[in-house]
Amino acid sequence: MIEKIREYLGLYKHTEYERNYLDDTNTSASVYMSVVVIVLETWMILRLIGVAADGSRTAEWIISHFIAYFILWVSAVAVLAYSIGFLMGKIKNRTAGRIMRIILSIVCVIFGMYISRHDYMKGEQILTFLTMLVFVACIFTWRPIVSLLILTLSYGIFYLLIDNPIAGDEMPFVHASTATRINFFIMWISVLMVSLSVYFQRLAEGRKTERLEQANKRLNRLVKTDDLTGLANKHYFIREAARLCEKLDDPVYLYINLNNFRSYNEKYGFSGGNGLLKDIAAELSSLFNDGLCARFGEDHFVVLCENKDIENRLKGLNEFALLRDVMIKTGLRVGAFYKKKRDITPQAACDNARHACDSLKKTENLFCVYDEKMELEQRRRQYIVNNIDNAIKSGYIKAYYQPVVWTSDKKICSAEVLARWDDPEFGLMSPGVFVPVLEEYNQIHKLDAAIIDIACADMRRYADMGAPLIPFSVNFSRRDFELMDVPAVLDKCVKKYGIKKELLHIEITESAITDSEDMLQSIVASLKAQGYPLWLDDFGSGYSSLNVLKDFSFDVLKLDMKFLSSLGTNTKSGVIIDSVLKMARQIGMHTLSEGVETTEEMDFLENIGCERLQGYLIGRPMPIEQLFEQIDEGKFCVSDKLI
Ligand code: C2E
Ligand code: CA
Ligand code: CA
Repeated sequence: MIEKIREYLGLYKHTEYERNYLDDTNTSASVYMSVVVIVLETWMILRLIGVAADGSRTAEWIISHFIAYFILWVSAVAVLAYSIGFLMGKIKNRTAGRIMRIILSIVCVIFGMYISRHDYMKGEQILTFLTMLVFVACIFTWRPIVSLLILTLSYGIFYLLIDNPIAGDEMPFVHASTATRINFFIMWISVLMVSLSVYFQRLAEGRKTERLEQANKRLNRLVKTDDLTGLANKHYFIREAARLCEKLDDPVYLYINLNNFRSYNEKYGFSGGNGLLKDIAAELSSLFNDGLCARFGEDHFVVLCENKDIENRLKGLNEFALLRDVMIKTGLRVGAFYKKKRDITPQAACDNARHACDSLKKTENLFCVYDEKMELEQRRRQYIVNNIDNAIKSGYIKAYYQPVVWTSDKKICSAEVLARWDDPEFGLMSPGVFVPVLEEYNQIHKLDAAIIDIACADMRRYADMGAPLIPFSVNFSRRDFELMDVPAVLDKCVKKYGIKKELLHIEITESAITDSEDMLQSIVASLKAQGYPLWLDDFGSGYSSLNVLKDFSFDVLKLDMKFLSSLGTNTKSGVIIDSVLKMARQIGMHTLSEGVETTEEMDFLENIGCERLQGYLIGRPMPIEQLFEQIDEGKFCVSDKLI
C-alpha cells in the first residue's frame, strides 16, 4: 500500500534514462511554451504603449505592468535560447536548463497571480492565473508530489490574496463567495489531475523507449560481435574489411587457428576451452589494435591490420597461447594474405589466408604467406570441381595401367587401373591432385564410374583384338559407396562389355573399411558374394589393420608401400613385412607388395615368399596401348595363371 502511494506520488528514484527522457521532453515543451509567452508578452507590451498614449491608466499602473510583462518576456527568451541550444547539441548542461525552467515557472505563477488579482478586484475573470498554472503544471512534467506542491501552494496563496484586502486596493473589497470557492477547488483538482496524467503518460513512454533502445543496442551488438569473445563476428568483419582496407597503407589479412584445441577442450572442459578463446581474443585485440579482429567460429580468428612487425606480434601471441598448456601445445598456425593493390573481396582474401593457414597442418611452423603457388593450387582445385563433368565428356580422364607380376616368373598377372586427368590447361594431373578434391566435394563417384567404364571398354577392345587377357584392379574411395550404387555400376559395365566378374578386382583401402559404418561393410560383403575378387589396399597404413583382417575375407593383401620404402633404413621393416605376409598366408590370403623400386627390394620379397609384385622397377603406370606394345615387344609376358 505504502509502495503504491509512494509510486503514485513519484517518490522513487528515476533511472538515468527516465530522468533524461523527462528532461528532454521538458526542454522541447519549453520551446513551445516560451514562444507562446514571448508572443503574448510582446503583444501586451505593445498594447501598453497604446494605453499609455490614450492616458486611460495611471503612470504607476503602466510602469508596474510593463515591469511584470518585461520580466516574463526576459525569462521566456532565456529559456527559449537555452532550449534551442540544448536541442541543437550546443549546450550540454542539464542542470542549467532545470534551474531556468524553475525560474520561468515561478515568474509565470507570480505574474498570473499579480495580473489576475487586479482583474478579480475589478470583477473580471482570473484567466491569466489559470493559463499560467496550466502552462507551468501541464506543459512541464514534474513529479506528482512537485505538481501537488506547486498547485496547492499557488492556489492557496492566490486564494488568500483575493480573499483578503491589501492596502491600496483600488476597488472596495468583497469576500469570495461559496460558488467562487467551489470553482476554485474544482480548478485546482482538474489542473492537478491533468498534470498527473501528463506525468504518468510521459514516464510510460520513456520506459517504453528505454526498453526499445536497450533491445536495439543488444541487437546491434549481436549483429556485430561474437558473443563469446566480444570480437567482431564474421558477418561484420566481412562488411567492414573493405572500408578498413582503404585506410591502411599495406593491409594484411591473418587467419589464425589454434593447434590442438580439441585436446585442450577435452582436458579442461567446455568452459576451460571458452576461457582460452576469450584470453586469446583479448591478447589479439591488444596486439593488433591497429586493425580489426574477428572470430570466425570455433578456434578460428581473423585479423585485418597494417603489415608492420607481423611475425613478431604473432610470436608474442603464440607464446601466450603455448603457455596455457605446454603439454597439449596449444600454439598457433597463421596464414597471411597481403592485399597490396589486388582487387579482391574480403571473403576471398580471408579464404586465401585460410588456405595458407591450412597448408601448415601437420607442420610445426607458425606462419605461412599465401603465394603464387598456392594461388595456382587453389585455382586448380576450383577448376577440378567445376570441370569434372566436362573432363569425362571430353575424354580428358584417362586410365593408366600398372602391371602386377608373379614374383616367381615376373609374368603379368594383372594391372592396376590408375586415373589420370590430361587437361588442356593444367596438363597431365595425377590422382594425388584431383582425387582428394573430388572426394571433398562429393564428386569422386563420377570419376570412378568413368574409370570403370574406360577399363571395361579397354579390356573388351583388346580381347576382341585377340590380345592376352589381363585382369584389372580398380580403386574405390570410401565416398563412392555413399554417393553411388557401386554393385549396380559394376554390373552395368560388366554386362555392357561382356566381362567376367573375376577379371575385375575391387581395391578398397583399409582406412575406408575401418572408418565406415555397417552399410559399407555389407556392400563389400555382397560384392564378394557376387564374384568380384576383393583386394585390401594400403594394408598397414591405418590403425586397426588386424581387425579388418578378422572381419572381412579379402582375397589379396596389398602391403602399404611405406614398409618397403623404409626397408633400407629401418631394420624392423623387414621383420614386420615378413610377419605380415606369413600371417596373411596363414589366414588364406594372397600377398602383393607395391612400390617395388629396387632389385634389393625385389630379392627380399622373393625370399620371404611374397606372391606378387608391383612397382616402378617392374613397370610404371602407362596407357593401355603402351602396355600391349611392351607385351608385343616381349618386355612383358602375360601369365596363363591369373588368380
Ligand atoms: P594407390 O592405390 O596406392 O596406387 C598406387 C600408387 O603408387 C599410384 O600412384 C602409383 O603410380 C604409385 N606407384 C606405383 N609404383 C610405385 C613405386 O614403385 N614407387 C612409388 N613411389 N610409387 C609407385 P598414383 O597413380 O599417383 O595414384 C595415387 C593414389 O590415387 C592411388 O594410390 C589411389 O589411392 C588413388 N587413385 C588412383 N586412381 C584412382 C581412381 O581411379 N579412383 C580412386 N578413387 N582413386 C584412385
Ligand atoms: Ca590401389
Ligand atoms: Ca596402394
